[in-house]
Amino acid sequence: MTAPKISSYTESINPVTGELIDKTPIHSLNDLESIINKAKDAQNEWKNNSVKYRAKKLLKIRDYIVDNADRIALTISKDNGKSITDALAAEVLAVAMAVNYYSKNASNFLKDEKLKNRNFFLVNKRSKIMRVPYGVIGIISPWNYPFSIPFSEIIMGLITGNAVVMKGASETLVVSKEIDKAIASAELPQGLFNLVNMAGSVAGAAFLNSGIDKIFFTGSVEIGKYLMEKAAKTLTPISLELGGNDPMIVCEDADPYRAAVGAIWGGFQNAGQSCAGIERIYVHEKIYDKFLSILKIEVKKLRIGYGSDFNNDIGCMTTKKQIEIVNAHIKDAVEKGATIFAQSEIQNSSKNFLPATVITDVNHQMLLMKEETFGPVVGVMKYRTNDEAITFANDSQYGLSASVWSKNKNRAEKIARQINAGAIMINDHLMSHGLAETPWGGFKYSGIGRTHGKYGLYDKTQPKVIVHDWLSFTKKNLWWHPYSKQVYEGLKSIIIILYKKNFAYKISAVGKLIKIIPRMFQKK
Ligand code: NAP
Repeated sequence: MTAPKISSYTESINPVTGELIDKTPIHSLNDLESIINKAKDAQNEWKNNSVKYRAKKLLKIRDYIVDNADRIALTISKDNGKSITDALAAEVLAVAMAVNYYSKNASNFLKDEKLKNRNFFLVNKRSKIMRVPYGVIGIISPWNYPFSIPFSEIIMGLITGNAVVMKGASETLVVSKEIDKAIASAELPQGLFNLVNMAGSVAGAAFLNSGIDKIFFTGSVEIGKYLMEKAAKTLTPISLELGGNDPMIVCEDADPYRAAVGAIWGGFQNAGQSCAGIERIYVHEKIYDKFLSILKIEVKKLRIGYGSDFNNDIGCMTTKKQIEIVNAHIKDAVEKGATIFAQSEIQNSSKNFLPATVITDVNHQMLLMKEETFGPVVGVMKYRTNDEAITFANDSQYGLSASVWSKNKNRAEKIARQINAGAIMINDHLMSHGLAETPWGGFKYSGIGRTHGKYGLYDKTQPKVIVHDWLSFTKKNLWWHPYSKQVYEGLKSIIIILYKKNFAYKISAVGKLIKIIPRMFQKK
Protein backbone atom coordinates (compact mmCIF):
# COMPACT_ATOMS: atom_id res chain seq x y z
CA MET A 1 0.00 0.00 0.00
CA THR A 2 1.49 3.35 -1.02
CA ALA A 3 1.80 5.55 2.10
CA PRO A 4 -0.65 8.47 2.10
CA LYS A 5 0.74 11.96 2.66
CA ILE A 6 -1.74 13.13 5.28
CA SER A 7 -2.13 11.73 8.73
CA SER A 8 -5.75 10.91 9.43
CA TYR A 9 -6.77 7.32 10.09
CA THR A 10 -9.63 4.86 9.82
CA GLU A 11 -9.96 2.74 12.95
CA SER A 12 -10.70 -0.97 12.68
CA ILE A 13 -12.78 -2.39 15.50
CA ASN A 14 -13.37 -6.08 16.21
CA PRO A 15 -17.20 -6.19 15.95
CA VAL A 16 -17.51 -8.76 18.76
CA THR A 17 -15.06 -7.51 21.37
CA GLY A 18 -15.20 -3.82 20.46
CA GLU A 19 -11.40 -3.66 20.72
CA LEU A 20 -9.37 -1.44 18.41
CA ILE A 21 -7.37 -3.79 16.22
CA ASP A 22 -5.79 -1.47 13.66
CA LYS A 23 -5.50 2.04 12.26
CA THR A 24 -5.15 2.76 8.54
CA PRO A 25 -4.06 6.12 7.11
CA ILE A 26 -6.51 7.78 4.72
CA HIS A 27 -5.45 8.69 1.18
CA SER A 28 -6.13 12.18 -0.11
CA LEU A 29 -7.47 13.02 -3.58
CA ASN A 30 -3.95 14.02 -4.62
CA ASP A 31 -2.63 10.67 -3.41
CA LEU A 32 -5.25 8.90 -5.50
CA GLU A 33 -4.44 10.91 -8.61
CA SER A 34 -0.77 10.15 -8.31
CA ILE A 35 -1.49 6.42 -7.65
CA ILE A 36 -3.67 6.23 -10.77
CA ASN A 37 -1.04 7.97 -12.90
CA LYS A 38 1.66 5.56 -11.73
CA ALA A 39 -0.71 2.64 -12.29
CA LYS A 40 -1.19 3.81 -15.90
CA ASP A 41 2.58 3.74 -16.43
CA ALA A 42 2.90 0.28 -14.89
CA GLN A 43 -0.01 -1.00 -16.99
CA ASN A 44 1.60 0.23 -20.20
CA GLU A 45 4.42 -2.24 -19.62
CA TRP A 46 2.37 -5.03 -18.05
CA LYS A 47 -0.09 -5.28 -20.96
CA ASN A 48 2.75 -6.24 -23.30
CA ASN A 49 3.48 -9.46 -21.40
CA SER A 50 1.77 -12.63 -22.54
CA VAL A 51 -1.16 -13.94 -20.54
CA LYS A 52 0.96 -17.01 -19.73
CA TYR A 53 3.67 -14.82 -18.21
CA ARG A 54 1.14 -12.91 -16.10
CA ALA A 55 -0.53 -16.15 -15.02
CA LYS A 56 2.77 -17.66 -13.91
CA LYS A 57 3.49 -14.63 -11.71
CA LEU A 58 -0.01 -14.56 -10.23
CA LEU A 59 0.00 -18.27 -9.43
CA LYS A 60 2.51 -17.53 -6.66
CA ILE A 61 -0.38 -15.89 -4.80
CA ARG A 62 -2.17 -19.25 -4.55
CA ASP A 63 0.87 -20.72 -2.81
CA TYR A 64 1.06 -17.75 -0.44
CA ILE A 65 -2.61 -18.24 0.47
CA VAL A 66 -2.12 -21.94 1.09
CA ASP A 67 0.84 -21.24 3.40
CA ASN A 68 -1.03 -18.51 5.31
CA ALA A 69 -4.57 -19.95 5.28
CA ASP A 70 -5.03 -20.17 9.08
CA ARG A 71 -3.77 -16.66 9.74
CA ILE A 72 -5.87 -15.14 6.97
CA ALA A 73 -9.03 -16.98 8.11
CA LEU A 74 -8.51 -15.73 11.68
CA THR A 75 -7.91 -12.17 10.49
CA ILE A 76 -11.14 -12.22 8.45
CA SER A 77 -13.04 -13.60 11.43
CA LYS A 78 -11.69 -10.90 13.78
CA ASP A 79 -12.21 -8.00 11.40
CA ASN A 80 -15.65 -8.99 10.10
CA GLY A 81 -17.00 -11.12 12.97
CA LYS A 82 -17.86 -14.17 10.86
CA SER A 83 -17.11 -17.71 12.04
CA ILE A 84 -13.62 -18.90 11.23
CA THR A 85 -15.04 -21.83 9.23
CA ASP A 86 -17.11 -19.43 7.09
CA ALA A 87 -13.94 -17.38 6.60
CA LEU A 88 -11.95 -20.41 5.52
CA ALA A 89 -14.57 -22.06 3.30
CA ALA A 90 -16.16 -19.07 1.56
CA GLU A 91 -13.14 -16.80 1.43
CA VAL A 92 -9.69 -18.39 1.78
CA LEU A 93 -10.48 -21.65 0.01
CA ALA A 94 -12.56 -19.85 -2.64
CA VAL A 95 -9.70 -17.46 -3.42
CA ALA A 96 -7.05 -20.22 -3.64
CA MET A 97 -9.29 -22.06 -6.12
CA ALA A 98 -10.02 -18.88 -8.09
CA VAL A 99 -6.35 -17.88 -8.41
CA ASN A 100 -5.54 -21.39 -9.58
CA TYR A 101 -8.44 -21.43 -12.05
CA TYR A 102 -7.66 -18.09 -13.70
CA SER A 103 -3.93 -18.79 -13.82
CA LYS A 104 -4.54 -22.09 -15.55
CA ASN A 105 -7.37 -21.04 -17.92
CA ALA A 106 -7.02 -17.34 -18.75
CA SER A 107 -4.63 -17.91 -21.62
CA ASN A 108 -7.16 -20.13 -23.35
CA PHE A 109 -10.12 -17.77 -22.76
CA LEU A 110 -8.20 -14.69 -23.89
CA LYS A 111 -6.62 -16.04 -27.05
CA ASP A 112 -7.58 -14.44 -30.34
CA GLU A 113 -10.81 -15.82 -31.75
CA LYS A 114 -10.92 -16.35 -35.52
CA LEU A 115 -14.40 -15.78 -36.91
CA LYS A 116 -15.87 -18.02 -39.57
CA ASN A 117 -17.01 -16.03 -42.59
CA ARG A 118 -20.54 -17.14 -43.34
CA ASN A 119 -21.33 -14.70 -46.18
CA PHE A 120 -20.44 -15.90 -49.65
CA PHE A 121 -20.08 -12.40 -51.14
CA LEU A 122 -17.73 -11.24 -48.40
CA VAL A 123 -15.76 -14.44 -48.36
CA ASN A 124 -12.54 -12.48 -48.88
CA LYS A 125 -12.83 -10.95 -45.39
CA ARG A 126 -11.17 -12.74 -42.47
CA SER A 127 -11.87 -11.37 -38.97
CA LYS A 128 -10.47 -12.10 -35.56
CA ILE A 129 -11.40 -10.80 -32.12
CA MET A 130 -8.83 -10.01 -29.49
CA ARG A 131 -9.43 -8.99 -25.88
CA VAL A 132 -7.63 -5.83 -24.80
CA PRO A 133 -7.35 -4.51 -21.24
CA TYR A 134 -9.14 -1.30 -20.25
CA GLY A 135 -6.14 0.24 -18.49
CA VAL A 136 -6.65 0.94 -14.78
CA ILE A 137 -9.61 -0.82 -13.18
CA GLY A 138 -11.10 0.53 -9.94
CA ILE A 139 -12.52 -2.17 -7.67
CA ILE A 140 -14.84 -1.07 -4.87
CA SER A 141 -16.02 -3.83 -2.57
CA PRO A 142 -18.16 -4.47 0.53
CA TRP A 143 -17.47 -5.86 4.01
CA ASN A 144 -19.49 -9.08 3.86
CA TYR A 145 -16.88 -11.11 1.92
CA PRO A 146 -13.99 -8.69 2.26
CA PHE A 147 -11.38 -11.18 1.02
CA SER A 148 -13.02 -13.29 -1.68
CA ILE A 149 -15.13 -10.67 -3.48
CA PRO A 150 -12.35 -8.20 -4.36
CA PHE A 151 -9.66 -10.88 -4.69
CA SER A 152 -11.17 -12.67 -7.69
CA GLU A 153 -11.79 -9.32 -9.39
CA ILE A 154 -8.18 -8.25 -8.76
CA ILE A 155 -6.83 -11.48 -10.26
CA MET A 156 -9.11 -11.18 -13.30
CA GLY A 157 -8.09 -7.53 -13.66
CA LEU A 158 -4.36 -8.22 -13.51
CA ILE A 159 -4.30 -11.38 -15.59
CA THR A 160 -6.08 -9.58 -18.43
CA GLY A 161 -3.32 -6.94 -18.50
CA ASN A 162 -4.88 -4.15 -16.44
CA ALA A 163 -3.57 -2.29 -13.43
CA VAL A 164 -5.88 -2.32 -10.40
CA VAL A 165 -6.76 0.21 -7.73
CA MET A 166 -8.82 -1.34 -4.95
CA LYS A 167 -10.92 0.35 -2.30
CA GLY A 168 -12.20 -2.10 0.31
CA ALA A 169 -15.01 -1.36 2.79
CA SER A 170 -14.04 0.89 5.69
CA GLU A 171 -15.32 -1.76 8.15
CA THR A 172 -12.86 -4.44 6.99
CA LEU A 173 -9.60 -2.69 6.16
CA VAL A 174 -7.50 -5.24 8.04
CA VAL A 175 -8.65 -7.83 5.54
CA SER A 176 -7.91 -5.46 2.65
CA LYS A 177 -4.34 -5.25 3.95
CA GLU A 178 -4.15 -9.07 3.92
CA ILE A 179 -5.07 -8.89 0.22
CA ASP A 180 -2.29 -6.33 -0.29
CA LYS A 181 0.23 -8.68 1.34
CA ALA A 182 -0.94 -11.67 -0.69
CA ILE A 183 -0.68 -9.75 -3.97
CA ALA A 184 2.80 -8.54 -2.96
CA SER A 185 3.92 -12.19 -2.88
CA ALA A 186 3.66 -12.21 -6.70
CA GLU A 187 6.36 -9.48 -6.93
CA LEU A 188 4.46 -7.53 -9.55
CA PRO A 189 5.81 -4.31 -11.10
CA GLN A 190 5.67 -1.29 -8.80
CA GLY A 191 2.34 0.55 -9.02
CA LEU A 192 0.43 -2.20 -10.82
CA PHE A 193 -1.74 -3.14 -7.85
CA ASN A 194 -2.75 -0.48 -5.33
CA LEU A 195 -4.84 -0.55 -2.19
CA VAL A 196 -6.32 2.80 -1.27
CA ASN A 197 -8.21 3.84 1.82
CA MET A 198 -10.78 6.58 1.50
CA ALA A 199 -14.35 6.93 2.73
CA GLY A 200 -16.94 5.59 0.31
CA SER A 201 -18.67 8.96 0.26
CA VAL A 202 -15.69 10.48 -1.59
CA ALA A 203 -14.27 7.42 -3.35
CA GLY A 204 -16.74 7.14 -6.23
CA ALA A 205 -16.39 10.67 -7.52
CA ALA A 206 -12.64 10.59 -6.80
CA PHE A 207 -12.10 7.43 -8.85
CA LEU A 208 -14.12 8.77 -11.77
CA ASN A 209 -12.48 12.20 -11.75
CA SER A 210 -8.96 10.79 -11.55
CA GLY A 211 -9.03 8.99 -14.88
CA ILE A 212 -9.89 5.44 -13.89
CA ASP A 213 -10.75 3.41 -17.02
CA LYS A 214 -13.40 1.07 -15.62
CA ILE A 215 -15.19 0.58 -12.31
CA PHE A 216 -16.16 -2.76 -10.85
CA PHE A 217 -18.49 -2.09 -7.94
CA THR A 218 -19.99 -4.56 -5.47
CA GLY A 219 -22.40 -3.18 -2.87
CA SER A 220 -25.83 -1.69 -2.36
CA VAL A 221 -28.34 -0.76 -5.06
CA GLU A 222 -28.37 2.82 -3.77
CA ILE A 223 -24.62 3.34 -4.29
CA GLY A 224 -24.69 1.35 -7.53
CA LYS A 225 -27.24 3.77 -8.99
CA TYR A 226 -25.28 6.76 -7.71
CA LEU A 227 -22.07 5.51 -9.35
CA MET A 228 -23.77 4.74 -12.63
CA GLU A 229 -25.12 8.26 -12.80
CA LYS A 230 -21.68 9.72 -12.04
CA ALA A 231 -20.00 7.38 -14.53
CA ALA A 232 -22.31 8.67 -17.28
CA LYS A 233 -20.54 12.05 -17.10
CA THR A 234 -17.22 10.56 -18.21
CA LEU A 235 -18.76 7.56 -20.02
CA THR A 236 -16.68 5.32 -17.78
CA PRO A 237 -17.74 1.68 -18.15
CA ILE A 238 -19.11 0.26 -14.90
CA SER A 239 -20.08 -3.21 -13.73
CA LEU A 240 -22.48 -3.49 -10.81
CA GLU A 241 -22.90 -6.44 -8.45
CA LEU A 242 -25.73 -5.37 -6.16
CA GLY A 243 -28.22 -6.69 -3.64
CA GLY A 244 -30.47 -9.72 -3.62
CA ASN A 245 -33.55 -11.20 -1.97
CA ASP A 246 -33.11 -14.82 -2.91
CA PRO A 247 -35.98 -17.31 -3.09
CA MET A 248 -35.73 -21.05 -2.39
CA ILE A 249 -38.44 -23.35 -3.78
CA VAL A 250 -38.93 -26.68 -1.98
CA CYS A 251 -40.90 -29.04 -4.24
CA GLU A 252 -43.18 -31.78 -2.91
CA ASP A 253 -40.62 -34.49 -3.77
CA ALA A 254 -37.62 -32.75 -2.14
CA ASP A 255 -35.63 -34.51 0.57
CA PRO A 256 -37.03 -32.55 3.53
CA TYR A 257 -33.90 -33.00 5.66
CA ARG A 258 -31.46 -31.84 2.96
CA ALA A 259 -33.76 -28.92 2.13
CA ALA A 260 -34.06 -27.86 5.79
CA VAL A 261 -30.34 -28.00 6.62
CA GLY A 262 -29.59 -26.47 3.20
CA ALA A 263 -31.96 -23.61 4.07
CA ILE A 264 -30.10 -23.12 7.34
CA TRP A 265 -26.71 -22.96 5.67
CA GLY A 266 -27.90 -20.85 2.73
CA GLY A 267 -29.91 -18.50 4.96
CA PHE A 268 -27.76 -18.15 8.08
CA GLN A 269 -24.17 -18.73 6.92
CA ASN A 270 -22.15 -15.53 7.38
CA ALA A 271 -24.94 -14.45 9.79
CA GLY A 272 -27.19 -14.10 6.73
CA GLN A 273 -25.06 -11.25 5.39
CA SER A 274 -24.72 -12.68 1.90
CA CYS A 275 -26.02 -10.99 -1.22
CA ALA A 276 -27.16 -14.42 -2.42
CA GLY A 277 -28.27 -15.78 0.95
CA ILE A 278 -31.71 -17.41 1.17
CA GLU A 279 -34.26 -14.85 2.36
CA ARG A 280 -37.59 -16.26 1.13
CA ILE A 281 -38.58 -19.94 1.29
CA TYR A 282 -41.58 -21.32 -0.62
CA VAL A 283 -42.56 -24.87 0.34
CA HIS A 284 -45.09 -27.16 -1.35
CA GLU A 285 -48.12 -27.74 0.90
CA LYS A 286 -47.50 -31.52 0.93
CA ILE A 287 -44.07 -31.17 2.53
CA TYR A 288 -44.57 -27.88 4.42
CA ASP A 289 -45.16 -29.29 7.94
CA LYS A 290 -42.39 -31.87 7.69
CA PHE A 291 -39.91 -29.27 6.38
CA LEU A 292 -40.76 -26.81 9.15
CA SER A 293 -40.49 -29.40 11.93
CA ILE A 294 -36.96 -30.35 10.81
CA LEU A 295 -36.06 -26.68 10.37
CA LYS A 296 -37.11 -25.96 13.97
CA ILE A 297 -35.00 -28.80 15.41
CA GLU A 298 -31.94 -27.83 13.36
CA VAL A 299 -32.20 -24.09 14.05
CA LYS A 300 -32.18 -24.82 17.78
CA LYS A 301 -28.89 -26.69 17.36
CA LEU A 302 -27.05 -23.68 15.87
CA ARG A 303 -24.27 -22.26 18.02
CA ILE A 304 -23.86 -18.50 17.77
CA GLY A 305 -20.86 -16.76 19.28
CA TYR A 306 -17.26 -15.65 18.85
CA GLY A 307 -16.25 -16.31 15.27
CA SER A 308 -12.76 -17.42 16.23
CA ASP A 309 -14.14 -20.33 18.29
CA PHE A 310 -14.07 -23.35 15.95
CA ASN A 311 -17.23 -24.76 17.54
CA ASN A 312 -19.45 -21.83 16.66
CA ASP A 313 -21.56 -22.03 13.52
CA ILE A 314 -22.50 -18.36 13.23
CA GLY A 315 -20.51 -15.28 14.22
CA CYS A 316 -21.75 -11.78 14.85
CA MET A 317 -23.25 -9.10 12.62
CA THR A 318 -20.57 -6.86 11.15
CA THR A 319 -22.31 -3.51 11.45
CA LYS A 320 -24.77 -1.87 13.84
CA LYS A 321 -26.63 -0.41 10.84
CA GLN A 322 -27.36 -3.91 9.55
CA ILE A 323 -28.64 -5.05 12.97
CA GLU A 324 -31.10 -2.16 12.91
CA ILE A 325 -32.37 -3.13 9.43
CA VAL A 326 -32.85 -6.78 10.46
CA ASN A 327 -34.72 -5.85 13.65
CA ALA A 328 -36.89 -3.37 11.73
CA HIS A 329 -37.85 -6.05 9.18
CA ILE A 330 -38.76 -8.55 11.93
CA LYS A 331 -40.80 -5.90 13.76
CA ASP A 332 -42.64 -4.93 10.57
CA ALA A 333 -43.46 -8.59 9.81
CA VAL A 334 -44.75 -9.30 13.33
CA GLU A 335 -46.86 -6.14 13.31
CA LYS A 336 -48.40 -7.30 10.03
CA GLY A 337 -49.32 -10.72 11.45
CA ALA A 338 -46.21 -12.90 11.04
CA THR A 339 -45.14 -15.52 13.61
CA ILE A 340 -41.63 -16.10 14.94
CA PHE A 341 -41.69 -19.86 14.40
CA ALA A 342 -38.17 -20.85 15.46
CA GLN A 343 -35.15 -19.10 16.88
CA SER A 344 -31.71 -20.22 17.99
CA GLU A 345 -30.26 -19.38 21.38
CA ILE A 346 -27.62 -16.70 21.83
CA GLN A 347 -25.50 -16.49 24.91
CA ASN A 348 -24.61 -12.84 24.62
CA SER A 349 -27.06 -10.41 23.09
CA SER A 350 -24.88 -7.36 23.79
CA LYS A 351 -22.14 -8.30 21.32
CA ASN A 352 -23.70 -7.77 17.91
CA PHE A 353 -25.03 -11.34 17.86
CA LEU A 354 -28.45 -12.00 16.38
CA PRO A 355 -30.35 -15.29 16.71
CA ALA A 356 -31.09 -17.31 13.58
CA THR A 357 -34.81 -16.74 13.08
CA VAL A 358 -37.48 -18.51 11.02
CA ILE A 359 -40.67 -16.54 10.43
CA THR A 360 -43.97 -17.99 9.17
CA ASP A 361 -47.37 -16.47 8.29
CA VAL A 362 -45.53 -14.04 6.04
CA ASN A 363 -46.70 -12.32 2.85
CA HIS A 364 -45.25 -10.06 0.16
CA GLN A 365 -46.50 -6.90 1.84
CA MET A 366 -43.88 -7.37 4.55
CA LEU A 367 -40.41 -5.77 4.28
CA LEU A 368 -38.93 -9.16 5.19
CA MET A 369 -40.20 -10.66 1.93
CA LYS A 370 -40.01 -7.53 -0.24
CA GLU A 371 -36.64 -5.99 0.62
CA GLU A 372 -33.15 -7.33 1.21
CA THR A 373 -32.90 -8.11 4.95
CA PHE A 374 -29.22 -9.19 4.93
CA GLY A 375 -29.28 -10.93 8.29
CA PRO A 376 -29.97 -14.36 9.85
CA VAL A 377 -33.72 -14.35 9.14
CA VAL A 378 -35.83 -16.29 6.66
CA GLY A 379 -39.55 -16.08 5.89
CA VAL A 380 -41.38 -19.32 4.95
CA MET A 381 -44.57 -19.51 2.83
CA LYS A 382 -46.67 -22.44 1.59
CA TYR A 383 -47.49 -22.92 -2.10
CA ARG A 384 -49.85 -25.24 -3.98
CA THR A 385 -48.72 -25.33 -7.64
CA ASN A 386 -45.39 -24.89 -9.43
CA ASP A 387 -46.79 -21.84 -11.20
CA GLU A 388 -47.63 -20.26 -7.87
CA ALA A 389 -44.11 -20.93 -6.56
CA ILE A 390 -42.56 -19.37 -9.67
CA THR A 391 -44.82 -16.32 -9.39
CA PHE A 392 -43.80 -15.88 -5.73
CA ALA A 393 -40.10 -16.29 -6.57
CA ASN A 394 -40.27 -13.73 -9.38
CA ASP A 395 -42.26 -11.21 -7.36
CA SER A 396 -39.18 -9.17 -6.41
CA GLN A 397 -37.21 -6.22 -7.68
CA TYR A 398 -34.10 -8.37 -7.27
CA GLY A 399 -32.89 -11.35 -9.29
CA LEU A 400 -29.45 -12.38 -8.06
CA SER A 401 -29.75 -16.10 -7.41
CA ALA A 402 -32.32 -18.72 -6.40
CA SER A 403 -32.66 -22.43 -5.76
CA VAL A 404 -35.03 -25.30 -6.49
CA TRP A 405 -35.06 -28.42 -4.30
CA SER A 406 -36.41 -31.65 -5.79
CA LYS A 407 -35.35 -35.25 -6.36
CA ASN A 408 -36.51 -34.91 -9.97
CA LYS A 409 -33.79 -33.19 -12.01
CA ASN A 410 -36.09 -32.41 -14.93
CA ARG A 411 -38.83 -30.91 -12.76
CA ALA A 412 -36.27 -28.79 -10.90
CA GLU A 413 -34.72 -27.54 -14.12
CA LYS A 414 -38.13 -26.75 -15.65
CA ILE A 415 -38.88 -24.51 -12.66
CA ALA A 416 -35.32 -23.07 -12.63
CA ARG A 417 -35.67 -21.95 -16.24
CA GLN A 418 -38.68 -19.82 -15.31
CA ILE A 419 -37.05 -17.96 -12.43
CA ASN A 420 -35.72 -14.51 -13.30
CA ALA A 421 -32.29 -14.57 -11.68
CA GLY A 422 -28.65 -14.80 -12.73
CA ALA A 423 -27.88 -18.18 -11.12
CA ILE A 424 -30.23 -20.96 -10.06
CA MET A 425 -28.90 -23.86 -8.03
CA ILE A 426 -30.63 -27.23 -7.78
CA ASN A 427 -30.56 -28.75 -4.27
CA ASP A 428 -28.03 -26.18 -3.08
CA HIS A 429 -27.81 -22.43 -2.68
CA LEU A 430 -25.34 -19.53 -2.66
CA MET A 431 -22.19 -21.53 -3.31
CA SER A 432 -21.93 -20.91 -7.06
CA HIS A 433 -20.09 -17.65 -6.27
CA GLY A 434 -17.24 -19.99 -5.27
CA LEU A 435 -17.33 -21.93 -8.54
CA ALA A 436 -14.74 -19.98 -10.47
CA GLU A 437 -16.04 -21.18 -13.84
CA THR A 438 -19.68 -20.10 -13.40
CA PRO A 439 -20.68 -16.55 -14.38
CA TRP A 440 -21.91 -14.40 -11.51
CA GLY A 441 -24.30 -11.45 -11.68
CA GLY A 442 -27.93 -10.59 -11.33
CA PHE A 443 -31.11 -9.63 -13.17
CA LYS A 444 -33.16 -6.53 -12.38
CA TYR A 445 -31.87 -4.46 -9.42
CA SER A 446 -29.25 -7.12 -8.61
CA GLY A 447 -26.84 -5.59 -11.07
CA ILE A 448 -25.43 -5.08 -14.51
CA GLY A 449 -22.76 -7.22 -16.11
CA ARG A 450 -21.31 -10.64 -15.33
CA THR A 451 -18.15 -11.62 -13.56
CA HIS A 452 -16.29 -14.90 -12.86
CA GLY A 453 -15.11 -17.52 -15.32
CA LYS A 454 -14.72 -16.60 -18.96
CA TYR A 455 -17.30 -13.83 -18.57
CA GLY A 456 -15.29 -12.25 -15.76
CA LEU A 457 -12.26 -12.02 -18.03
CA TYR A 458 -14.45 -10.54 -20.76
CA ASP A 459 -15.75 -8.00 -18.20
CA LYS A 460 -12.18 -6.76 -17.63
CA THR A 461 -11.37 -6.44 -21.34
CA GLN A 462 -12.75 -4.85 -24.47
CA PRO A 463 -13.24 -6.85 -27.65
CA LYS A 464 -11.26 -5.50 -30.59
CA VAL A 465 -11.63 -6.79 -34.13
CA ILE A 466 -9.04 -6.99 -36.89
CA VAL A 467 -10.35 -7.68 -40.39
CA HIS A 468 -8.04 -8.93 -43.15
CA ASP A 469 -8.82 -9.00 -46.89
CA TRP A 470 -7.26 -11.75 -48.99
CA LEU A 471 -8.33 -9.98 -52.20
CA SER A 472 -6.35 -6.86 -51.36
CA PHE A 473 -4.26 -7.34 -54.53
CA THR A 474 -7.33 -6.01 -56.44
CA LYS A 475 -7.64 -2.26 -57.03
CA LYS A 476 -10.97 -1.77 -55.27
CA ASN A 477 -14.01 -3.36 -53.69
CA LEU A 478 -17.22 -3.76 -55.68
CA TRP A 479 -19.01 -1.11 -53.61
CA TRP A 480 -16.37 1.65 -53.77
CA HIS A 481 -16.66 4.86 -55.82
CA PRO A 482 -17.39 5.86 -58.57
CA TYR A 483 -21.11 4.94 -58.44
CA SER A 484 -23.42 4.48 -61.44
CA LYS A 485 -26.72 2.84 -62.34
CA GLN A 486 -24.72 -0.22 -63.41
CA VAL A 487 -22.96 -0.41 -60.03
CA TYR A 488 -26.32 -0.04 -58.26
CA GLU A 489 -27.90 -2.86 -60.32
CA GLY A 490 -24.82 -5.05 -59.90
CA LEU A 491 -24.92 -4.69 -56.10
CA LYS A 492 -28.69 -5.23 -56.01
CA SER A 493 -28.17 -8.46 -57.91
CA ILE A 494 -26.30 -9.82 -54.88
CA ILE A 495 -29.41 -9.81 -52.68
CA ILE A 496 -31.45 -11.30 -55.50
CA ILE A 497 -28.97 -14.14 -56.04
CA LEU A 498 -28.79 -14.78 -52.31
CA TYR A 499 -32.35 -14.43 -51.14
CA LYS A 500 -34.90 -14.14 -54.01
CA LYS A 501 -37.00 -17.32 -54.17
CA ASN A 502 -37.71 -17.12 -57.92
CA PHE A 503 -34.95 -18.96 -59.83
CA ALA A 504 -35.43 -16.99 -63.10
CA TYR A 505 -34.71 -13.73 -61.25
CA LYS A 506 -31.54 -15.22 -59.83
CA ILE A 507 -30.28 -16.18 -63.32
CA SER A 508 -30.85 -12.68 -64.72
CA ALA A 509 -29.16 -11.15 -61.69
CA VAL A 510 -25.96 -13.14 -62.25
CA GLY A 511 -25.39 -11.26 -65.51
CA LYS A 512 -25.66 -7.88 -63.77
CA LEU A 513 -23.17 -8.96 -61.14
CA ILE A 514 -20.67 -10.19 -63.71
CA LYS A 515 -20.82 -6.78 -65.41
CA ILE A 516 -19.41 -4.96 -62.36
CA ILE A 517 -16.70 -7.46 -61.41
CA PRO A 518 -14.05 -5.98 -63.82
CA ARG A 519 -14.16 -2.67 -61.85
CA MET A 520 -12.28 -4.44 -59.04
CA PHE A 521 -9.23 -4.59 -61.31
CA GLN A 522 -9.54 -1.13 -62.91
CA LYS A 523 -7.88 2.06 -61.74
CA LYS A 524 -10.63 4.44 -62.77
P1 NAP B 1 -22.37 -0.15 0.28
O1 NAP B 1 -22.76 0.75 1.38
O2 NAP B 1 -22.90 0.13 -1.07
O3 NAP B 1 -20.76 -0.19 0.28
C1 NAP B 1 -20.03 -0.99 -0.59
C2 NAP B 1 -18.69 -0.32 -0.90
O4 NAP B 1 -18.96 0.91 -1.55
C3 NAP B 1 -17.86 0.03 0.33
O5 NAP B 1 -16.51 -0.11 0.01
C4 NAP B 1 -18.19 1.49 0.56
O6 NAP B 1 -17.16 2.22 1.21
C5 NAP B 1 -18.30 1.97 -0.87
N1 NAP B 1 -19.07 3.19 -1.04
C6 NAP B 1 -19.99 3.74 -0.22
N2 NAP B 1 -20.44 4.90 -0.76
C7 NAP B 1 -19.80 5.07 -1.92
C8 NAP B 1 -19.82 6.07 -2.94
N3 NAP B 1 -20.62 7.13 -2.84
N4 NAP B 1 -19.01 5.93 -4.00
C9 NAP B 1 -18.21 4.85 -4.11
N5 NAP B 1 -18.13 3.88 -3.18
C10 NAP B 1 -18.93 3.99 -2.11
O7 NAP B 1 -22.79 -1.65 0.58
P2 NAP B 1 -22.55 -2.50 1.88
O8 NAP B 1 -23.60 -2.19 2.85
O9 NAP B 1 -21.14 -2.37 2.31
O10 NAP B 1 -22.69 -3.97 1.28
C11 NAP B 1 -23.87 -4.67 1.32
C12 NAP B 1 -24.56 -4.69 -0.02
O11 NAP B 1 -23.71 -5.27 -1.00
C13 NAP B 1 -25.78 -5.56 0.01
O12 NAP B 1 -26.82 -4.95 -0.70
C14 NAP B 1 -25.32 -6.82 -0.69
O13 NAP B 1 -26.37 -7.58 -1.26
C15 NAP B 1 -24.40 -6.27 -1.72
N6 NAP B 1 -23.50 -7.30 -2.21
C16 NAP B 1 -23.66 -7.76 -3.49
C17 NAP B 1 -22.84 -8.78 -3.96
C18 NAP B 1 -23.01 -9.35 -5.34
O14 NAP B 1 -22.16 -10.12 -5.76
N7 NAP B 1 -24.05 -9.00 -6.07
C19 NAP B 1 -21.87 -9.31 -3.12
C20 NAP B 1 -21.74 -8.81 -1.84
C21 NAP B 1 -22.56 -7.80 -1.39
P3 NAP B 1 -17.22 2.53 2.77
O15 NAP B 1 -17.14 1.22 3.45
O16 NAP B 1 -16.03 3.38 3.00
O17 NAP B 1 -18.51 3.24 3.02
